[in-house]
Amino acid sequence: MLDEKSDKSQYRWDPFQKEWIIYAPKRNLRPFQGKNFKKEPKKTWTCPFCPDAPEGSGKWVVKQLPNRFASLDETKHFSIEKIMGSFKKTAPNYGKCEVILYSQDHDASFGTLEHQNIIALIKMWQERFAAIKNMKDMKYIFIMENRGKEIGNSMTHPHGQIFSFPFIPPKIEKEYLAFKQYNKEKNSCILCDILKEEQNEKNELKNGGNSRIVCENDDFLAIIPYYAHWAFEIHIISKRHFRSLIEITETEIESLAQIMKKIVQKYDALHGDGNIMPYVMAMHNSPVNTKENSENLFHFHIEYYTPFRGKEKLKFLAGVELGTGTMICDALPELNAKIMRELST
Ligand SMILES: [Zn+2]
Ligand SMILES: [Zn+2]
Ligand SMILES: [Zn+2]
Repeated sequence: MLDEKSDKSQYRWDPFQKEWIIYAPKRNLRPFQGKNFKKEPKKTWTCPFCPDAPEGSGKWVVKQLPNRFASLDETKHFSIEKIMGSFKKTAPNYGKCEVILYSQDHDASFGTLEHQNIIALIKMWQERFAAIKNMKDMKYIFIMENRGKEIGNSMTHPHGQIFSFPFIPPKIEKEYLAFKQYNKEKNSCILCDILKEEQNEKNELKNGGNSRIVCENDDFLAIIPYYAHWAFEIHIISKRHFRSLIEITETEIESLAQIMKKIVQKYDALHGDGNIMPYVMAMHNSPVNTKENSENLFHFHIEYYTPFRGKEKLKFLAGVELGTGTMICDALPELNAKIMRELST
């Protein structure tokens, strides 16, 4: 019997796209805050992540919590897979969903966090990554942040999430195959080569050339990729080739904190009017507990997507994107990278 209260959460296999879909009917019960584009003052609601609420209580700088409205469940087993009829394939929704609180300050955001606070956050991500990696059935640990009502964030208190999957999600699988194929053909890493080319093009700037670089420091480069899907999509790429956050040095942690804050500050400055920019931060680490990880082909990077494409203009996925999977991007990366580069923060 299907009813709202019983747990019908599961994975189902799409035989056409050849990918798992997560069915999480219970998630419809989760709360939603924030009615308009502007940040609302705290007094209009009781926030569960603030220090006066049970989940946010205690003394902490950053804090990890289980997601109360998790769509994945670590007590299940992915291996019990059923095939019914000619195409119906389902599996229990094994996985893990966590929330990471960035600050006790309800009105803070990534762009206003103290440097040491971001260092603590990166170390918390590392700690969680290492712990989840020990769960041998987990194949992908996805660290991310949804920010802003426009992209469905239901809580305005600064926080991010960690989704852990028992399989390699399709976008990561595609990236991994690209690393592998490039390596086979050129005996090199595609992202290491992209870094070199972006630097070369930057050196041509004074001769009237273009650059897609937004900013950089000793250890990381931030660009709007040549192949960006969104007008202001930004990728932060490590200058050294390593697979995941747990292989990063202390100096690189400092640099990563600096450049992540800078990108968010630039986004907020671009948005203007003192409002926060809606975005998705997607950290692309290598898969874990698989041959894909042991091959050392994956190159760590972070992707930011925002629906923002100009003042009062948001990009929505519509017919062409949803019906064919082909993205229409409203601006050339070179032009928007220049805008981002020249924004002062
Ligand atoms: Zn709060
Ligand atoms: Zn590389
Ligand atoms: Zn990526």
